Amino acid sequence: MDTSRNGTMTVIIPAYNEAENIIIAAETVSNILQNAAIPYKLLFVDDGSSDETWAQIRYASDRFPHVAGLHFSRNFGKEGAIAAGLCNAKTECAAVMDCDLQHPPEKLVEMYRLWQTGIDVIEGIKTDRGKESFLHRFASHGFYRIISKLSDLDLENTSDFKLLDQKVVKIIREMPERNAFFRATTFWVGFRHATVSYEVQERIAGTSKWSGGKLIQYALNNIAAFSSTPMKMVLYLGVFMLIFDFIFGMIAFVQKIMGIALSGFTTIILLQVFIGAVMIISIGTIGFYIARIYTEIQGRPRFIISDSCGEDEDEYTAVG
Ligand code: UDP
Ligand code: MG
Repeated sequence: MDTSRNGTMTVIIPAYNEAENIIIAAETVSNILQNAAIPYKLLFVDDGSSDETWAQIRYASDRFPHVAGLHFSRNFGKEGAIAAGLCNAKTECAAVMDCDLQHPPEKLVEMYRLWQTGIDVIEGIKTDRGKESFLHRFASHGFYRIISKLSDLDLENTSDFKLLDQKVVKIIREMPERNAFFRATTFWVGFRHATVSYEVQERIAGTSKWSGGKLIQYALNNIAAFSSTPMKMVLYLGVFMLIFDFIFGMIAFVQKIMGIALSGFTTIILLQVFIGAVMIISIGTIGFYIARIYTEIQGRPRFIISDSCGEDEDEYTAVG
C-alpha cells in the first residue's frame, strides 16, 4: 500500500439554478481546503441553469484562485454533470459534492486524509437525513431497500458525496454506459473503500431541484441500471400463473364431468381482469428495459459543454 499520497483534489460541484449559492460555496470550500493546506481545484458544472448561475461561476473563477467552470448547452441532469466533472478531473483525486452545502465541506478534509493513507474510494454516508417530509423519507427508504436487495450493494444512506482516486475516476470515466448511477457505480467498481459519516445540512439558499415525478423516474432508472430482476420476475409470474391456470382448469374439468359446470361466472371475470393486469405489467416491464437498451444503443452523449471558464479554459472534453 502506498502510504502518504500527495496531490491535488478536484472538487466537482454540480449546480442547477444555484445562483445564490455559487459564491458562498466557492468561498467556504476554498477557505477550508486552504486552511488544511490541501492543494485543490473547484470545478463547478452548470447543468444548463436558467438563472444567473453561469454568470456567478464566471465571477467566482475571476475572484478566487483555482476555480473553474463548465456550462452545459441545456439541462442534462445531475448524473450528466457528475460525468462531465469526472471526464475533466485530471488531478490525483476528485471529490463530488452538492452546491447547496448540504454536504458539509469540512468532511472533504477528512476524506482527503483517508485518501492520503491509500484508500481509493471514500464514501460519504448520511447519519441524519436532514429535513425531509415523511413521504419522501418513506419512499426513499423503500427505494434503497429494493435496490439494495436487487443489486446486492448496500446503498442505504449513501449519497453522491464522495472522493475517488484518479485510477477509479479513470475507470468510471471510461465505462461506456449512458444511464449511469454514480452513487452505486463507486461501490460496484470495488477497490479499497472507507466511509465518512456526515449529517445532512440545511440548504443554504433556494429549493430542492427534485419534483416527485422526477424522483420516481430517477428511482426506476437506477433500479434498471443495477438489476435485471424485474424482468426475471415477469418469467416467475408467468410460471405462477401457469400453475394457477392448471388448478382452475382441473376444477372446471371435474365440474364438467360431474355435470355442475356453468357456475363460477364471477371467477371468470376476476381471472380475466387479473390476467389482463399481469400481462400489461409484464409487457410494461419488458418495454422499460427495451427503452433503456434503445438509449444505450443510440449512444448519445451524457452532456454537452457549450462554455467554460477558469484555468485550462480551452482544454475541456466538451462531450462525453
Ligand atoms: N442538480 C443538478 N442538475 C439537476 C438537479 C440538481 O446539477 O438537474 C444539482 C443541484 O444544483 C445540487 C445537487 O445537484 O448541487 C443536489 O440537488 P438538490 O439539492 O436539488 O437535491 P437534494 O439535496 O434535495 O436531494
Ligand atoms: Mg440539496
